[in-house]
Amino acid sequence: MSFLIALDDGHGMNTKGKQSPYILSMNRRIKENEFNRRVVDELNVLLKKCGFQTLLVASTDHDTPLSTRTNRANRAGADAYVSIHYNAYDGTFKGPNPGGIELYVYPGHLNKEAGRLARSIGAALKQGTKQNYRGIKEADFFVLRETSMPAVLTECGFMDHPDEALLMLNPAFHKETAIEHAKGICEYFNMNYKEGKSKEASFKGRRIESIHEGNLRFYAAPSWKDEDVAGYVQKGIGFPSIIDRLSVNGSDQYKVKNSKGSVFYITAHEKYVTVK
Ligand SMILES: [Zn+2]
Repeated sequence: MSFLIALDDGHGMNTKGKQSPYILSMNRRIKENEFNRRVVDELNVLLKKCGFQTLLVASTDHDTPLSTRTNRANRAGADAYVSIHYNAYDGTFKGPNPGGIELYVYPGHLNKEAGRLARSIGAALKQGTKQNYRGIKEADFFVLRETSMPAVLTECGFMDHPDEALLMLNPAFHKETAIEHAKGICEYFNMNYKEGKSKEASFKGRRIESIHEGNLRFYAAPSWKDEDVAGYVQKGIGFPSIIDRLSVNGSDQYKVKNSKGSVFYITAHEKYVTVK
């Protein structure tokens, strides 16, 4: 039997107010969900590698209602609920700018299972990037109250702290935060944390298949352009051999070979394809 972990990415992409102050050097604000969602995506992959099952309770860009999130986890009988967030103090870079990590459990649960899970995750989050550790707190948050399994909400930094705001878009910080959550969850469930094989070693020469309902484009060149589309694959169909993985305008593609040796390019996003 494997444990089921419900993963909650906090908010929708356009949830009002959930964003950093205006960042001059970037000419924009950073939305909280830009961070939360990336960490949840990476954590999802890591937990599966460690032998967990996962449930993404809010997998779209929409602002999934909190009750929908908790209902999904309760209905599925999840063994733990982890909600990943980024904190805010006063919504401005002016005045005091506290920073750091804090974790929340429902009031009265510090010495129960949720508290134990929070301590495991908190101990792992303390590693890596140097941040102030603000500890484990109690709060009557909806997702902590309405879930029927141990539930922890993590605040991985402050959106209105100048340095921590920039960490929200830092891929190395996403990865680190995801690994730390995975290690903490493994520790709590007494599972071995398995370091994912490096991308380099793990995909070359392996088969890739579409897991997308409908037509998935593949390309004659490393490109996302309509005019480079070479054809489509259906769910369950793919290419026998991956040659390489490359970044194309910021999103990864696999360079693949078909059975006749012709070379094509296809998205590497795990939402659309799986490596066998
Ligand atoms: Zn939040």
